[in-house]
Amino acid sequence: MHEHIEKLTFRKVSVLFMAVHVISEARRCLQCKNPLCRNKGCPIQTNIPEMIRLFLDGKINEAGDMLFENNPLSIMCSLVCDHGAQCEGNCIQGIKGTSVHISSIEHYISDYCLDKMILERDRKKHRRIAVIGSGPAGLTVAIKMAQKGYDVTMFERMDYIGGLLRYGIPDFRLPKTILDRFQKKLLELGILIRPNTSIGGALHLDDLFDDGYEAVFIGTGVWRPRRLGIKGESNGNVHYAIDYLMNPNAYNLLGRKVIVIGAGNSAMDVARTAIRKGADSVDMYVRRNKSAASPEEIDYTLADGVNIQYLTRVESITPDGPMVYHVTMDEEGNVTSQTTPKLVEADVVFIAVSQVPKDKIASTTTGLELNEWGLIKVNEDFMTSKPGVFSAGDVVLGAKTVVAAVRDAKIAAEGMDKYLQSK
Ligand SMILES: Cc1cc2nc3c(=O)[nH]c(=O)nc-3n(C[C@H](O)[C@H](O)[C@H](O)COP(=O)(O)OP(=O)(O)OC[C@H]3O[C@@H](n4cnc5c(N)ncnc54)[C@H](O)[C@@H]3O)c2cc1C
Ligand code: SF4
Repeated sequence: MHEHIEKLTFRKVSVLFMAVHVISEARRCLQCKNPLCRNKGCPIQTNIPEMIRLFLDGKINEAGDMLFENNPLSIMCSLVCDHGAQCEGNCIQGIKGTSVHISSIEHYISDYCLDKMILERDRKKHRRIAVIGSGPAGLTVAIKMAQKGYDVTMFERMDYIGGLLRYGIPDFRLPKTILDRFQKKLLELGILIRPNTSIGGALHLDDLFDDGYEAVFIGTGVWRPRRLGIKGESNGNVHYAIDYLMNPNAYNLLGRKVIVIGAGNSAMDVARTAIRKGADSVDMYVRRNKSAASPEEIDYTLADGVNIQYLTRVESITPDGPMVYHVTMDEEGNVTSQTTPKLVEADVVFIAVSQVPKDKIASTTTGLELNEWGLIKVNEDFMTSKPGVFSAGDVVLGAKTVVAAVRDAKIAAEGMDKYLQSK
């Protein structure tokens, strides 16, 4: 453990072990005229200097309202965005010293305000819209449309709302109580939630129009694990990341030797969860010489005691473990040499190499066009090829981020409103 921590940067260690003092952090903000934290760093253009100004002026509720209006998932984004690459990575204070710890300030404000905030709602329009999926994209559209006065029904395949916020990102990074508190806001806005209801099963999307919904939003994400395409993926000792993270308690890893194949954030989440669930050791195999995860996630993964092995590939998986070989690569990323595959004994192998969309809705809906990767095609208003059907989030972009899903879902809600007003 200590040997891993020595590899971490000073800033990361300070974040790991010391609480951030949000008020002194806020006081370090220079209120830049051209705030790069916002203009260059924030995918959803959060007005960071204004948030900090209101907070320091004793107007925390105004700051909270402003954050929610711009990004209803501010409380989640303040925890799970890649701040080092976004707002904090662009803060002017970071050039010569340490960036303002914007995420902690945003989280403090959003967390303080969430329960007491009273959400404004326009006069009821008595027009119904349906939202399929309650991940970041679906939640954003549901809130924005309910606030505009539409009657919103949200269909969710799982027991609880949240999508990957609940069933992907582990609790130690995003406490699920936040989603429970968030659900109260949906109910306050009069949003009807139908859990355990998969569209494309008993109910099809076309049925929704027959029942009087005037527009539909598809925010179903990407949930089919991407396969490695090697022999042994169906063995009993092999599991896909997304399946494991959905309910880690269903798996017994106590004292087990675990191998994770993959390099992105979900691979890191699987490894860190496995170690918390009592795995004896967790080794992560990364194909290339670098990981797709953020430097911060890699640091935390190392701090948790996971062993990351770069330039390591798996040829096949046997019931006793994977057949592993090592490669060298040139600067262009071409493999220049490789070793002979050798068995590495392991009890459990996780495959964490991203997800692709399921085709349940597309295969049961008329006139919905997909691109070559099975993602839904949309126009600049995020309307699909089917009039009145809008879509955003991972099911349009492929596996991306929470903030990208919220950003695009906001545009989709505007597009849906414009479409409905023109009808
Ligand atoms: C392990 C993991 C860790 C991640 N970590 C981060 C991170 O730290 N930061 C970050 O920004 N992003 C992270 N991401 C990515 C992020 O979670 C996604 O980009 C984001 O959740 C996409 O939002 P969405 O609303 O498009 O889809 P989702 O969150 O996938 O939500 C889709 C919802 O639709 C429901 N659904 C699907 N099909 C149907 C159907 N037919 N009928 C009804 N409901 C349906 C699903 O059950 C789900 O609730 C991570 C992803 C994973 C897998
Ligand atoms: S870049 Fe940094 S200092 Fe400037 S406004 Fe943003 S948070 Fe404040």
